[in-house]
Amino acid sequence: MVERLEFDMTLYPAPVLRKPAEPVTAFDEELAEIVRAMFERMDKSNGVGLAAPQVGLKKRILILNHSGDPRDNLVLINPELISRSGPQIYFDEGCLSFPGIYVEVRRPERVRVKALDASGKPFEAEYDGLISRIIQHEYDHLEGILLVDRMTPADKHRNRAALDNLVERHRRESEKAESAQ
Ligand SMILES: [Zn+2]
Repeated sequence: MVERLEFDMTLYPAPVLRKPAEPVTAFDEELAEIVRAMFERMDKSNGVGLAAPQVGLKKRILILNHSGDPRDNLVLINPELISRSGPQIYFDEGCLSFPGIYVEVRRPERVRVKALDASGKPFEAEYDGLISRIIQHEYDHLEGILLVDRMTPADKHRNRAALDNLVERHRRESEKAESAQ
């Protein structure tokens, strides 16, 4: 039996969000439990996608569900974006690590992905629309790229107070953690 996991959201600017994630090598019960607990966290936070660094894990795991129907759950382990194509599209993106912040981000419409599923079985597929958008956003997380990096100077200016609040909250919580040691 593996231990039951319960994840908190890791918020900007936690350092783990900046570290490139490492490939998954074991497709075991522990991985299955991580994936289950990630879906639980994503659902509780009303998200459509989640990458492992957002729950504090430096692993190349991303999950998504664009519809809210559990049959649309998608798990991508060690994903590779083989190609991006189609017109560049602007879309309002949020991020569970940046609560309350939304930014118009330009990305190509389609993405072709190679990945493993939670059992280690390889698959390749092409996505467009919201699924493509979520995959490209979550894939950024595996590379340590964040919503704030996709902001224009005007976006940053508009979201200055919210970003400062997150930085301040992180500073206070780090201090609290240090003084508790
Ligand atoms: Zn995100």
